[in-house]
Amino acid sequence: MKVILAKNAGFCMGVRRAVETTLDIIHREDRGVATYGPLIHNPQVLDLLAERGVRIIKEIPEQESGTVVIRAHGVPPEQKEKLKATGARVEDATCPHVVKVQVIIKKYRKQGHATVIVGDRNHAEVEGLMGYSGPLGQVVSNEADVAAMELSGPYIIVSQTTQDHKAFDSLSRMILARFPGGAVFNTICDSTHKRQDEVRELCGRVPAVVVVGGKNSANTQRLGEIIEGMGCRAFMVETEEELDSAALGQYDCVGVTAGASTPNWMISRVVRTLEAIPGRGEGVSHIIFYKFCWFFLATNLCVSVAGGFLAYTCGLLQGLAPQPAHFLISFGYLFAMHNINRFTDQKTQKFNDPVRALFYRRYRWPLLVASALALVLALALARELGSRPFLLLAGMGLLGILYSVRFVPQFMLPVIKVRGLKEIPGSKTFLVAAAWSFVTTLVPAWGSGAASNQMTMGVLVFVFFLAFVRNALFDVFEVQGDRIVGKETLPVWIGEKKTIMLLQLIMGLLLVLLVLFPVLGLMTAVGFWLVPGVCYLVVLLYCYEKKYVSQGPRLEFWLEGVFFLMAALAWLASFAGRV
Ligand code: SF4
Repeated sequence: MKVILAKNAGFCMGVRRAVETTLDIIHREDRGVATYGPLIHNPQVLDLLAERGVRIIKEIPEQESGTVVIRAHGVPPEQKEKLKATGARVEDATCPHVVKVQVIIKKYRKQGHATVIVGDRNHAEVEGLMGYSGPLGQVVSNEADVAAMELSGPYIIVSQTTQDHKAFDSLSRMILARFPGGAVFNTICDSTHKRQDEVRELCGRVPAVVVVGGKNSANTQRLGEIIEGMGCRAFMVETEEELDSAALGQYDCVGVTAGASTPNWMISRVVRTLEAIPGRGEGVSHIIFYKFCWFFLATNLCVSVAGGFLAYTCGLLQGLAPQPAHFLISFGYLFAMHNINRFTDQKTQKFNDPVRALFYRRYRWPLLVASALALVLALALARELGSRPFLLLAGMGLLGILYSVRFVPQFMLPVIKVRGLKEIPGSKTFLVAAAWSFVTTLVPAWGSGAASNQMTMGVLVFVFFLAFVRNALFDVFEVQGDRIVGKETLPVWIGEKKTIMLLQLIMGLLLVLLVLFPVLGLMTAVGFWLVPGVCYLVVLLYCYEKKYVSQGPRLEFWLEGVFFLMAALAWLASFAGRV
């Protein structure tokens, strides 16, 4: 079925900051990490943090060691002081928006103002704000509370940051009507605003919306209320297992949104499961086409064919005559390595793409046998090309298989710090880019002996950076799941923003190389024709940043599509006789 994903679904800034702060502390703290109260309202994320050793403290103990994290909702000031007195290092991950409300209350309290908080009395954020308000604070949640209010003297009205702004406006007006002269501060955060406005807009386009999020998350429940209020059907789920396929199958298109404490990987799981449910009126051909596309991606046939086409493009960039062997060697090697990597990476796969993880578990043996055969075929073809291409491919195959093995002995850990290649931060992005460039450029060049060394070096540099962009982009798409399981990809290591900036720089460099290298004799004139291919990548990254596209099979197709596009452009160039 067709699924429309809300642009602002998922972790808000405050929640992302709190989770990332905690994950960073796990890395450096060896005396233990605890959070005061549940870090966020999402049981699945809390379970994962517990798996990584993060404890939840419900009562402040006399003594505590290690680090205690104050969650995004904040705490009353006296509780913060008590936590410090336990001897623990206190890391305050209170969201800056919540801190802003605390500051407003503190400032006006000093001037003798009472505080009225519009919100849920039992919500952790409101409990924290009441701590700042002191005895002159009170909470109102509905009209009955306003009717029962008692106030004298100057006062301010603030809002819980995740309130519905319509409810806040109406309750503030009622309060002002009863007690004129109060100062109103609409402290609903932008993220909540945008999420709620967007869901209202979404209800105008779809008959039903799936809301993903914790059952005890106030902002998630509020999204459900808004959807029902708009006359749309709301399906509230915590995980994809709770989706009611029979009820959802009545619709041809559904919307998906999520609460502020729902991670991207969980939203992706729901979206992918929904996309696999046949919608109303969807013909058999549509379902078969969807299943074929998914199979093409899940089995890594898509990436392997893309690699084969890249070998074709590299051949033309070096002035080599295209040979089926070049295509098949790249195809076989990439098919084998990508499948083996998926098998050794089941842990992250479980979060980033559970449907695919299940597929690998179910078809483990057929895929492993096919991968072994593909590698043997690639090696046999490389042998035909000569001993140098064969040895290069065999060495890369060995490296690919060893990549996930922890070969460094335990006793050397204090010196070397890592047990294997996989644990070196960012290593995967570099090594995979190197493997792609060697197999698509060096193997054909060494096999034919016709390429000039100069051109081979030029094309090797270009393809390394191109493959680097592809791999780093995949890592960016999966950064939240990777971070939570502690996988050391480039975006986890240097951060998502810095990775994207680096990729923008590399894309700029790729454009320069495509214009400069043909002039310098470091590649053929086919290089000029590939400029639209790099522009395509720039547009794709822009769309991802602006959230016009989200992580999922479609995005994967589009990203792998760059190699098909470049092969088509290279073919056009050779057809036009410009090589
Ligand atoms: S919803 Fe807004 S205020 Fe609350 S944690 Fe997220 S960004 Fe901060």
